[in-house]
Amino acid sequence: MLFGSSGIRGIANREITPELALKVGLAVGSLNTSCVIGRDPRTSGEMIEHAVISGLLSAGCQVTRVGMVTTPTLAFAARNYDCGVMVTASHNPAEYGGMKLWNRDGMAFNTEQQNEIESIIKNKAWKAAQWNSIGRVSQKCVVEEHIENILGKMGSASLKVVVDCGCGAASTITPYVLRRMGCNVITLNSQPDGFFPARDPEPVEKNLDMLKKVTVAFEADLGIAHDGDADRMMAVDGRGRFVEGDKLLALFGLREAKKSIVVPVDTSIMVDDVLKGRKVYRTRVGDVYVAEELKKRNADFGGEPSGSWIFPGISLCPDGIYAAAQLVEIVEKEGKLDALVDELPSYPKIQGALQCSNDKKENAMRRIGIELRKMGDMSTIDGIKVDTENGWILVRPSGTEPKIRITAEAREGVDELYARAEKTVKEALL
Ligand code: MG
Repeated sequence: MLFGSSGIRGIANREITPELALKVGLAVGSLNTSCVIGRDPRTSGEMIEHAVISGLLSAGCQVTRVGMVTTPTLAFAARNYDCGVMVTASHNPAEYGGMKLWNRDGMAFNTEQQNEIESIIKNKAWKAAQWNSIGRVSQKCVVEEHIENILGKMGSASLKVVVDCGCGAASTITPYVLRRMGCNVITLNSQPDGFFPARDPEPVEKNLDMLKKVTVAFEADLGIAHDGDADRMMAVDGRGRFVEGDKLLALFGLREAKKSIVVPVDTSIMVDDVLKGRKVYRTRVGDVYVAEELKKRNADFGGEPSGSWIFPGISLCPDGIYAAAQLVEIVEKEGKLDALVDELPSYPKIQGALQCSNDKKENAMRRIGIELRKMGDMSTIDGIKVDTENGWILVRPSGTEPKIRITAEAREGVDELYARAEKTVKEALL
């Protein structure tokens, strides 16, 4: 399997090699006549980019290079080409490299398209162009177009904002967008560096201590954090508190979702309660599934609590820069972020896991399903989910470990709900 849930990703120069990148370029170039390519600041970025370009040109595809950009900028630029290639490993640690392929509408290549690329590579079925139709390379700056598109949809704001770019590609765009909105922007880790010396690229709470401290020390209104390629965005409030992803999802949903919203299956029911009257569609966990469902349902907004926010008015690629501007506008218009967050209800959630060897998972899940069905409405979008009157249970086999994970959330009585789920799973594992 070449493609994982987030494109092609692995250890740079071991799994993600120039040889592999050349083949990806040959395959993509055999199916498309024009392609835009960009990269994040990883140490393997230039090496992989050049190899992909060689493959594309050899197959007769015209290539436009846009240099170091964010993934949402590349996906936005892809609307003017047959497809886009982003050389990135997103939020993975520094030693990783990767490639992600994009359609014109900002959707990542779907399973069918990925299979087609894999099949061409496996069968060496790429086409080599004649000497007189080898592709050419041109260069373009596309950041300004992305900035103007975002600014065209936002009002002005006069807040003090700390932006932690995490030494990633966000350094090329987010601080400029917020400054042009009128904000006083204090940048943190805004020097692109493929070693990610300041912090791990993933914008989870444990990696954002510096952002919390600087936001409080500068008495800023809020702090923004991105991952390595800025398709993700998370935030801290003016008191230096990390804002949970479910809460951001509700704040964006209130503003963006006129009729409908798409969220993954493990999203808090707080979001349903806050967005009463709107249709909430649930999907498998993963931003690509959220984007697919959003397109299928023609929904207004989609998001994943890990920090991926999809605004279909700009593209179907999660856009952390647009999300940062949107959050700043919300705070400018509606008041302090800590107050907005505290106004939202909070429901207790319990997460745990039980050991289960990989070969027993399928059988166990079947038995768990038979029992859990008795507790309420069951869905099998991703694992087994049961909606009860006052909450829900989700039981999912871990994709990476010999474990079955259990999550329960409820407006009240979460301990009893979790205990019932755990007992059912334990019995199924006997
Ligand atoms: Mg990312």
